[in-house]
Amino acid sequence: MFTSLAHKSVIVTGASKGIGKGIAKVFAAAGARVLVVARHLEAAEAAATELRAAGGTALAFAGDVTVKADMQAMAKAAVDHHGGLDVLCANAGIFPQVKLEDMSETEWDHVMDTNLKGAFLSVQACIPGLKASGQGRIILTSSITGPVTGFPGWAHYGATKAGQLGLMRSLCMELAKYRITVNAVSPGNIITEGIAALGPAYEASMAASVPLGGLGRVEDIGNAALFLATREAGYITGQTIIVDGGQTVAESTDALAQM
Ligand code: NAP
Repeated sequence: MFTSLAHKSVIVTGASKGIGKGIAKVFAAAGARVLVVARHLEAAEAAATELRAAGGTALAFAGDVTVKADMQAMAKAAVDHHGGLDVLCANAGIFPQVKLEDMSETEWDHVMDTNLKGAFLSVQACIPGLKASGQGRIILTSSITGPVTGFPGWAHYGATKAGQLGLMRSLCMELAKYRITVNAVSPGNIITEGIAALGPAYEASMAASVPLGGLGRVEDIGNAALFLATREAGYITGQTIIVDGGQTVAESTDALAQM
């Protein structure tokens, strides 16, 4: 039995939809006080309202992970409204697809700024609150794309997701003396609005490449993040949990066909 996360103060960036909303839902259902962060306040408020309607404690906050002042205000909001800060789920991310030969510097910078600099700024702003917690937790949403696999059009995206793991490893050493752990959850293909936007052909081909069958649910990522946030996971730091239904394990399409 895991120690309850009831009343813990949790920030989830990129929580107005998709995986972030799934993470927020799982934490709210576990009794945590969740700050739902996204750039668009209306969407963040809609997600927070949904969590509250299900009996959870949640508040919306409009913030851009690429803006340092927004991240500092976000950390302060968690402390002011939820009595402290125990967990940061740095999840906000974008995945526009463009082949490297056609990629502009602006497109490269936008993905770097959101996914990698955004992780840096959100983590940095939360460190004082997490230190005060005495058992702070940082959980990054990375990906299988970059650290494990590649996909045409996602060179910049894959670089950020691998970069997040580099960030995690040095950071976990810097923060160990404060009993703050830093880990990552790496999703495979999860059913979200973002993935749906890539079209039914993409979804079908991804589903066919998963040994456990089908795409993952946002709650699958939320549950992994929840585990990493527990008191019992306090001796785990600098690690990645891949949640992909076995997608990265299959050696070839033939291996899948022989199942
Ligand atoms: P999504 O459905 O497109 O949702 C993205 C969320 O991030 C939204 O809440 C969006 O709200 C927010 N966001 C985007 N840019 C932001 C910024 N600059 N500042 C603050 N919030 C921002 O995406 P998703 O599929 O759930 O992906 C979430 C994370 O999981 C990403 O890091 C992604 O790389 C990772 N991931 C996803 C999959 C998958 O299968 N879906 C697989 C592997 C990894 P606003 O637009 O209002 O800001």
